[in-house]
Amino acid sequence: MDLTYTEEEQEFRARLRAWLATTLPELPPRPSPDDWPGRRAHDLGWQRRLYEAGYAGLHWPLDAGGRGATPTQHLIFLEETERAGAPYVGANFVGLLHAGPTIAAEGTAGQRARWLPPVLRGEEVWCQGFSEPDAGSDLASLRTRAERDGDAYVVTGSKIWTSHAEVADWCELLVRTDARAPKHRGISWLAMPMDAPGVTVRPLRTLAGSTEFAQMFLDEVRVPVSHRVGAENDGWRVTMVTLSFERGTAFVGEVVACRRTLGELARAARANGRWDDPVLRRRLGRLWGEFGALWRLTQWNVSESQRSGGIPGTGGSVFKLAYSHARQELYDTAAEVLGARSLGLDEEWTLDRLSSLSYTIAAGTSQIQRNIVAERILGLPKGR
Ligand SMILES: Cc1cc2nc3c(=O)[nH]c(=O)nc-3n(C[C@H](O)[C@H](O)[C@H](O)COP(=O)(O)OP(=O)(O)OC[C@H]3O[C@@H](n4cnc5c(N)ncnc54)[C@H](O)[C@@H]3O)c2cc1C
Repeated sequence: MDLTYTEEEQEFRARLRAWLATTLPELPPRPSPDDWPGRRAHDLGWQRRLYEAGYAGLHWPLDAGGRGATPTQHLIFLEETERAGAPYVGANFVGLLHAGPTIAAEGTAGQRARWLPPVLRGEEVWCQGFSEPDAGSDLASLRTRAERDGDAYVVTGSKIWTSHAEVADWCELLVRTDARAPKHRGISWLAMPMDAPGVTVRPLRTLAGSTEFAQMFLDEVRVPVSHRVGAENDGWRVTMVTLSFERGTAFVGEVVACRRTLGELARAARANGRWDDPVLRRRLGRLWGEFGALWRLTQWNVSESQRSGGIPGTGGSVFKLAYSHARQELYDTAAEVLGARSLGLDEEWTLDRLSSLSYTIAAGTSQIQRNIVAERILGLPKGR
């Protein structure tokens, strides 16, 4: 990948920067962290503005409603939106960053036309129904079953840790369609409407006090067969596509935000005298280097994924592993810099620190990422 910017790319950056400068001051204030309907409206409103200005789905393929932008333009978009402090995808995380890209890669023309435009226009929110109480790291042991009845599947079971389920319109749902097949072979990937009869959502409260995820109970929910993405019982392969987006490219925008946060911390340390501590200065410097390296890895992953048909590879596991630990260290360092201020539960720093704890669990734990790196990248023997 060529890391110098062409004249056209510099113009793209300038246009985007100017648009952000006029648009961001017009945005309504962010709702409180636990106001999920308010957050949904806010996040979709931002998506709508992006859509109207031609920045929605920038790097999605043209035939999926995207803009077909180059990897460099995509990276410039991430850099500039973070630099300007623009809202992040928020409640739209699943739709924009992994369900949508999976449908773009694996869906039929009809499925793309039905589900992708409302995601890009900021009209519909998706959630992810993968994990179950007894199927997290070992996701292929999932037991939610789907039995064929005419042109519908009848789905019964339960899902857990379903982020944004309370405000979602659709769920990317993994179900067992063949109970007799080996566990990786009897799974299918469905798009389930969240307002279907038989869907019950019970919010779960996180350590930080937010109900961002939920347990979901499914009692004979009818999902049309036409809502299956990929072939029946081929859902594990489709799941690998979803997870490669989730680990490979979904978090990349946050790396720029972490560098900004680090800059703020250095300024806070200078102001409150903590900067005089050489050990702390070294720690901040090392983190600066680490996030710089993660941004380079991001550039590499984004350009590699574009080269291999838009689907990120196992490099995503290297990124996810390194990023989640670096993020935790960043917020531990923040606590050291801010002292007592970092303990108040009404402080954004505290909430960010608490939520950073989930990063080494969500989207596959660090142990699982290490297994993937060991087996699929380094070619080491499979663990038992
Ligand atoms: C903030 C957050 C949001 C989430 N959002 C969603 C969502 O929207 N949708 C969804 O479906 N899921 C979601 N999840 C669930 C997440 O994917 C699971 O928590 C994760 O996959 C781990 O599964 P588990 O919690 O069942 O832990 P377990 O699988 O029970 O693991 C327990 C411990 O054992 C270790 N372990 C397990 N197997 C191995 C092994 N083979 N080798 C080494 N160590 C191992 C794990 O690393 C972990 O430390 C979310 C989780 C969090 C924290």
